[in-house]
Amino acid sequence: MNRLPTFPRSAYLPPPAAIRRRTTAAARGWAKGWPNDPPAKLVAVEVTRADGRVFRPRVDERLANLVGFLMSGTMLLGYEFRGAKEPDGGVGSYDFRPIKGSNPPKPSNHSSGTALDLNTKGNPMLYLNRPDAFRSTQPPWMVELWAAAGFYWGGWYGDAMHFEMMLRPEDVPNAMAAAKTKYAEIRLRLFGGRTVLERGAKGDEVRALQLRLNAHGFPVDVVGRFGPATEAAVKAFQAAHGLQADGVVGPETRAALDAEPAEPSPGDPPPVEPPPVNPCADCGTKLDLANAEIERHRVVRQATRQAFAELEADLQIEDNASMQRTIAMAVVKGTL
Ligand SMILES: [Zn+2]
Repeated sequence: MNRLPTFPRSAYLPPPAAIRRRTTAAARGWAKGWPNDPPAKLVAVEVTRADGRVFRPRVDERLANLVGFLMSGTMLLGYEFRGAKEPDGGVGSYDFRPIKGSNPPKPSNHSSGTALDLNTKGNPMLYLNRPDAFRSTQPPWMVELWAAAGFYWGGWYGDAMHFEMMLRPEDVPNAMAAAKTKYAEIRLRLFGGRTVLERGAKGDEVRALQLRLNAHGFPVDVVGRFGPATEAAVKAFQAAHGLQADGVVGPETRAALDAEPAEPSPGDPPPVEPPPVNPCADCGTKLDLANAEIERHRVVRQATRQAFAELEADLQIEDNASMQRTIAMAVVKGTL
């Protein structure tokens, strides 16, 4: 996995007026945070990367949908979130602590569930003391998107991993609308000017294309280069959507890619998932069953145990073999 590209500080627009004045989370009506006022309810926002890697940052419940939209939108536009062990990665959120290094200690926005640290290693906190060393992998359009939704970017004061909510809880619906508008605008700016995308193209547009191909079930590595594998995936996608299979992404193919992946129609056979080998949460046995089956297995085991307990109590059966027969009969009778 490659390092992410970085941008100089001059590449970024200043904060929009609506969020220029920084206040505390408490002053904006969120939980006061550390040391004794955590958010009333935290929600883990689940975001899945094209390769299946899942991120679950925890935020105040009232921000969950907005953060989910921003993280998904950021990835759809071609930026990749990364895990702590991957180059430039690390995604953090709720953390009940003061601001690191503050003296006297002041509550961090992370302790109010209103801040996220995105790709921490690629965005070290350097700028305050070492302006020459400023380093950020956050694309300027990403900062613009999050800022439109009310998130102040730490890069403006030297902490490029950090995004914190500057609006009030009651502003969140408007922030969501603004985020959608900004997403569409950036989408057009990044991809709309180019009429076609074809073999030989490079960059964020190609990354976004590869993410969309994956989302539609045409697997291809998200590498930002339009090579033979991407071309083959585009042709397969086009053929499957009744388009001319020329491997060139023009307006029609683009529109089909932008659409939500098709749900299987009632006549289609159900998708076949490889059976994962998972331990049962209840008994720890390795089972060759899909997750839904695991759940049923657990429930069935509990029902079985319950039946055993009842049989033991009601019938005073001590002989194991006869108990097994009784259980078998109970199953046949539909008691379980
Ligand atoms: Zn932070």
